[in-house]
Amino acid sequence: MSRLLLHICCAPCAIYPVETLRAEGVELMGYFYPHNIHPYTECLRRRETLEGYAEAIGLRVIYERGFDLTGFLRRAAFRESHRCLPCYHDRLRSAALVARRGRFDAFSTTLLYSRFQKHDDIREIGESVSKATGVPFHYADFRAGWDRGVAESRRMGLYRQQYCGCIYSERERYYRDGPAVNSAARNNGSAASEPEAD
Ligand code: SF4
Repeated sequence: MSRLLLHICCAPCAIYPVETLRAEGVELMGYFYPHNIHPYTECLRRRETLEGYAEAIGLRVIYERGFDLTGFLRRAAFRESHRCLPCYHDRLRSAALVARRGRFDAFSTTLLYSRFQKHDDIREIGESVSKATGVPFHYADFRAGWDRGVAESRRMGLYRQQYCGCIYSERERYYRDGPAVNSAARNNGSAASEPEAD
């Protein structure tokens, strides 16, 4: 059985990848990265939702410490329209480094579950990070389980957020008359950006 570290953006997006990987006999541990989820109260809410979900299904999760809002904004400054790619990179690289320290066989991400993320870019960045860190990237197209994940998250009563994560995506969610910095990000990300309320 292989050991895999799964970057988890939020609990609803984790449901289908966790079910699938466990069914394949993979030994899983989750990894939560907080720095791209704004404001802090939203980050806490997503983390608490993940904690409850993880406890319910017996999944151990590593929670990255801190809340580096300043670092995130500095990296996004002056390249806001392309901010998602470095954001993916930061999250996947962090996951890979944690996986390397923990001697996991591979790392992956629940970002591959979302129908609204830039799927091909995530795959490409995951493979690039893999080459740089020496940790294999487990690619799977989890989008096939979108409906299953949405239904199960509702059945479990999980909190389903309405924007991807960063403060820019929050603005694009609620300030629809304003200039969209990244139209893809409006519905980017987590299951939660899918029209529940959309
Ligand atoms: S919209 Fe989502 S993926 Fe893009 S920068 Fe913001 S948090 Fe990251």
